[in-house]
Amino acid sequence: QDTRIIMDEAAIRRALTRIAHEIAEKNKGIEGCVLVGIRTRGIYLARRVAERIRDIEGQEIAVGELDITRYRDDRPQEAVSARQAGELPFPIQDKRVILFDDVLYTGRTIRAALDALMDCGRPQSIQLAVLVDRGHRELPIRPDYVGKNVPTSRQEKIEVRLAEIDRTDGVILSHP
Ligand code: 5GP
Ligand code: MG
Repeated sequence: QDTRIIMDEAAIRRALTRIAHEIAEKNKGIEGCVLVGIRTRGIYLARRVAERIRDIEGQEIAVGELDITRYRDDRPQEAVSARQAGELPFPIQDKRVILFDDVLYTGRTIRAALDALMDCGRPQSIQLAVLVDRGHRELPIRPDYVGKNVPTSRQEKIEVRLAEIDRTDGVILSHP
């Protein structure tokens, strides 16, 4: 198995700083914007970008968490009534929601996240930020903000390490 570091700590830092600037630029500030991270690593990415936005815009931006496990279409055994959106600590009605995930692949997780968000209210818009887009989409979903585009084969795996849980920062591509 050969592995290659495709983003080191500095590259991740720069990408997240750029994404913070892009979010403020696209939305002409951050008025009405909230960040929502998808379980585990998306949450830490959203928190880091919120810090950058605080530095850039001098304004606080709310960060919420979403656990979409129960919305995945590969888990049909879960009844719709049993669904519970990840508890967002704020209303998303009429907000611009910026969703964060670590890796975008087929798009099925994001589809499920959109479902979960829509169950929480009617946002004005939903935008998508990912650290890595590895391609192979199976749904009409594309990210608005991308840390790095990494063309992969389906056999390859991307490992995202974030200091908050993995001790160090890095994105590693491994080929079986
Ligand atoms: P999708 O639902 O788009 O097929 O896959 C995206 C979800 O699965 C994300 O939540 C992401 O964390 C995870 N994922 C898919 N492929 C990879 C990968 O190569 N590496 C990592 N770290 N996560 C992946
Ligand atoms: Mg994930």
